[in-house]
Amino acid sequence: MLPSVKPSKKLIYLDHAATTPTDPRVVAAMAPYWNQVFGNPSSLYKQGRMASDAISKSRNTVSKILNCKPQEIIFTAGATEAINLAIFGVARNFLAQKKKPHIISTKIEHHAVLKSLEALKGESCSVTLIDVDKDGFVDVKKIEQAIRPETVLVSVMYANNEIGSIEPIAQIARMIARVNELRIKDKGLRIYFHTDAAQAAGSLDLNVEKLGVDLLSINGSKIYGPKQTGLLYVRSGVNFKPIIYGGGQEKNLRSGTENVPGIIGLTKALELSQKNRDKENIRLEKLRNYFLNQLFKKVPNITLNGPQISDSKNRENKYLKRLPNSINVSIPGIEGEELLLYLDSYNIAASTGSACTSETTDPSHVLLAIGKSPEDANNSIRFTMGQATTKADLEYVVKILSSVIYELRKLR
Ligand SMILES: *Cc1c(COP(=O)(O)O)cnc(C)c1O
Repeated sequence: MLPSVKPSKKLIYLDHAATTPTDPRVVAAMAPYWNQVFGNPSSLYKQGRMASDAISKSRNTVSKILNCKPQEIIFTAGATEAINLAIFGVARNFLAQKKKPHIISTKIEHHAVLKSLEALKGESCSVTLIDVDKDGFVDVKKIEQAIRPETVLVSVMYANNEIGSIEPIAQIARMIARVNELRIKDKGLRIYFHTDAAQAAGSLDLNVEKLGVDLLSINGSKIYGPKQTGLLYVRSGVNFKPIIYGGGQEKNLRSGTENVPGIIGLTKALELSQKNRDKENIRLEKLRNYFLNQLFKKVPNITLNGPQISDSKNRENKYLKRLPNSINVSIPGIEGEELLLYLDSYNIAASTGSACTSETTDPSHVLLAIGKSPEDANNSIRFTMGQATTKADLEYVVKILSSVIYELRKLR
């Protein structure tokens, strides 16, 4: 019953929100650090110093991109670790002072945030998760209303991995700064603001001064860098405890021998993606709009999940609200997972919601949070484009998708 079209020879990889291939330039930058400059950065002899200098250089490069001080960067093994460090690091500092901290976040965060908060509830913390609207945006006022005297941390993702909504980070930061000003006068606790920027690092501005955040998490594997690499930006003055104890690396905040090739690779990946992002965003946005228009034309009753793409001529405005590479649609009557497997047989890789939940059949918490029914959520499929995506790829995908869906609907 499958349409008699040949599977694509090229892998049409449309799951860049799950992970990206490592850029060959990143692989090349890492190459000397496996077996030439292999010393332990803590060692005092030349080999060690060379490794340690390479890390310092990376830290400087990254700090320029983030517009922060080099010493405010902590290299980690991925975004999950950076997020855990941010959340537990801040919370445990207060718990150690026998305080019962309150944390505010949103219902659409990645599980790295949600499960960390869940675990902290067992450690005398209280947590408020804010609703989002039907497009997946959090309302700054709702966060403000949830603030209590014991609130110490607000964590809101920069961009959502499932539906691509871009949250108003700078506005939230301004609101928190206003609250903190009053608190300083009253000698109250300062609220810290963390953002999970794992999905944003490839396409959005990471200037922490403009964003106004105190903590920011990034990973390498979503920006054509190596897996298990990442970093946490921590503004100086943020009171903070480590979650990994040992040899005292990374200013005692992340012990363990540094992943030197990984740090070099992450840095190169960040440099490349930030340098190309404006051009690449425009290219991807065009491809996305083409793909969506074709889907709307060829697949009856398909709906777009997440921010609706406005007709506004204000490009700037559009970028502020939705990642350019991300499309999540619901197709009534079609199981996302079933469709995904059919696409796989044509050498097309897509995803249903976030990869981390795809082993379970629970409907996506993000789609439920934007008001979709469990059925709509299970009928959803996500395409996230990347550097290798071409218009010809998308033409092929539309052809396969529309005929597979046509055949599947005929069977029902
Ligand atoms: C991928 C992702 C993470 C986790 O990153 P890892 O590198 O898998 O640890 C966290 N948050 C968001 C938004 C992500 O997309």
